[in-house]
Order: sequence, then C-alpha cells, then structure tokens
Amino acid sequence: MTRSDPDSCPGVLRLHEAADGPLARIRVPGGQLSPEQLQALAAAAVDLSDGNIELTSRGNVQFRQVRDAAALSEHLTAAGLLPSATHERVRNIIASPLSGRVGGWTDVHPLVPALDAGLRAAPRLAELPGRVLFTLDDGRGDVSGLGGDIGIHALDENTYALLLAGNDTGVRVPPAEAVDLMLAAAHSFLELRDAQWRLHEIPDGRARVTDHLLTARTDLDASGDPIEVVARQDIPIGWLTQHDDKIALGAGVRLGSLPARTAEFIAAIERPILLTPWRSLVITDLDEWPAEQVVRVLAPMGLIFDANSPWLQVSACAGMPGCAKSLTDVRADATAAVDSGRVLPTATTQSPREGLDSTEVIASGRQHWSGCDRRCGRPKGAVTDIIATPDGYTITPAD
Ligand code: SF4
Repeated sequence: MTRSDPDSCPGVLRLHEAADGPLARIRVPGGQLSPEQLQALAAAAVDLSDGNIELTSRGNVQFRQVRDAAALSEHLTAAGLLPSATHERVRNIIASPLSGRVGGWTDVHPLVPALDAGLRAAPRLAELPGRVLFTLDDGRGDVSGLGGDIGIHALDENTYALLLAGNDTGVRVPPAEAVDLMLAAAHSFLELRDAQWRLHEIPDGRARVTDHLLTARTDLDASGDPIEVVARQDIPIGWLTQHDDKIALGAGVRLGSLPARTAEFIAAIERPILLTPWRSLVITDLDEWPAEQVVRVLAPMGLIFDANSPWLQVSACAGMPGCAKSLTDVRADATAAVDSGRVLPTATTQSPREGLDSTEVIASGRQHWSGCDRRCGRPKGAVTDIIATPDGYTITPAD
C-alpha cells in the first residue's frame, strides 16, 4: 500500500482540528508517569483544555478543546513530557505494564527510556510516521498482539524475539542488544518505505527489514522457532501483589476519560503510575494499608477496581460532538447502556442486528461503539462492533 498523504497523527506541536476544537496528543513512552507528571497533566487539563485526560490505546494521553497550544507545550516541557520538538510524535512505545512487578520473564521497563533516548538521538528517525508503534513484551503476551511495527518479546530471562509488523522474525538477541536492534529496524523501515505509514503496508516489509538486519549483522540469524502472537484483552484490574510484596492497584477508567480532579487524587498518592494500552492505569508500589485507602477514596470517584465491571467491556470512539463524522453521541449511548444493564456478560450469545434505537442496543462481552463505520479506536481481537448508521445502530458480534 502506498499513501499519498503524510500521516496526520497529532502531537503537542501539531494539533488536530477536531469538531469540538484543537486536540493535542502527548506521548508517554511505556505509559510511565511520575506523580509530578500526572499532576502536571491534571493542571493542564483544567487550565488549558476541557478538564479531562483522555487515555489512548497506545498508553498515551490526549487533551481536547486546547485553548493555548504555546502554553501547553511550555507546561509539558517543564514537566519532562515534551523532551523533543523534532521527535515528539515518534515516541510511541508500549511496554507490558506489570513488567518487573508482577509476572513476566523479565523487566522491560528499563528498556523504555533507552529506546526513547535512542529514537531522539537519531535525527533521521524524526522522519518515522507518527503511527509507527514499538512494543516491549516481557513474555506474558499482553502487548505483542497489539499490532506493533517493531517489537521485542521475552522468551526467557536472557532472550528476546524480534517482532516485525506484529509477527515473529525468528531473530533472537540478548537483552543488552534489544534496543539497538529495534533502532536498526526503524532505520531499515525508513530506507524501505515510500509513503507507507506502517511496516505491514510495505510489500514483504517484515522479510525485507529482517534481511537488512541480517546483512548488517552477520552474527544474527532468523532460525528461532516461531512464536505465535495473539491479541489479548489483558487489563490489570484490582489488587495485585508485586514481587517485592508491595501492592499494585489496576484501575479501569470509564471510556478512557480521566477527570482532572481524579488524576489529582492519584498524583497525591505519590507513587509511580503506569498508563496501559487498554485505557486504564496502574498505581504501583503501595503498602497494604494505603492501598486499601486508595480503593476507598477512588472507587466512589469512578475508578474501577472490580474485574467484573461492565465498564471494562465497553470502549467508544470520540463520537459527537468531538468528531464531525459522527452520527450520534456514542459515548452517551454507551454510558446509558452500561448504566441500564444492557452490557451483558461475555458468555451470552448474540446475533447480528440493525436499525436499532440506542435504547434497544443490548450486547454482550467486549464491545466497541462507533459513531460511523470507520470504527476509530477499536481494540484488537474479538470485539463486538456497535456502529451508528443513518438507519440506527448495527450490532456485529465478535467472531
Ligand atoms: S469512528 Fe467515525 S465518528 Fe468515531 S471518531 Fe472515527 S470518524 Fe469519528
């Protein structure tokens, strides 16, 4: 596939003109936020946008209705959230959120700043399209299936598989070489691309990038037994005991929209925060008693600590009024469906339906509501589509 337009992914320095006003996207590599940075985001949400922090499917954040772009970039720079003007849109890095704390072969989080620094240090890599995604999976398989372009997947404590265009290449490297190999793959992608935004859009892109890498490094080969990569919905929710006996609290966020006031409360806990690619977050490194108090305070504010909550099944695109293409306010309709008990457990069977009024939509399990058939923000994997059409909603069950 050859694109005729440059990618239009927004950043902080290049806003998207949404129907409800300018939209800014802030990259948060690995979803890693300090409490001070979350507080800075909360302040910016109140002072410079619509008062909410939107979580994205890449563990980044967005502001809607941005009022002063220059003030926003100054504020984010001071908070360390905009470390590069040239490379801001290429810092799309997802890492297994619980890595190093709960499960997994190894801790991929220390590789995130190294990869981020490597990207920013290479002037040529500023040319990467804003859609290119890096994934670092600690072996549990939670992020390798999220459609990354360039990724590593731990096979044991000392070996990473290189993934390209979401699939295994057979190339294996030790941890010390993983970041350099991903950066080399990014350079190869740029050499091969015409106007493509993603590696999978280049004919034989995965094989050709692999050949580039093997030509440059004769000590590598692609003989590893292939691993299967699958998309999973692996939201960490609730009470999680870390390897060091501290507590991590996984919290769902309704439709991925975090009110600034709630974010301020989370920041005040003064613990590291991880944003996940499932539009949720994890508050880490808590002692037991404080963790209990956090749940007591934040659950009534709308954060979800119950893994059986129907909110965890539902996602929605921006819809009306944020998107001019939207036929309806899908977020309000999805909210009404949850509140009135029309989001059913996963095991319930369902059939395709069409021409439905919003109040007639009843669907089970993982579901994504869209204001038109472009289905923006649809999660990977088995997801029921609920799409607004001029004739009412259609329901297309997950495969
Ligand atoms: S799915 Fe349609 S309505 Fe929703 S954000 Fe995308 S273009 Fe807009």
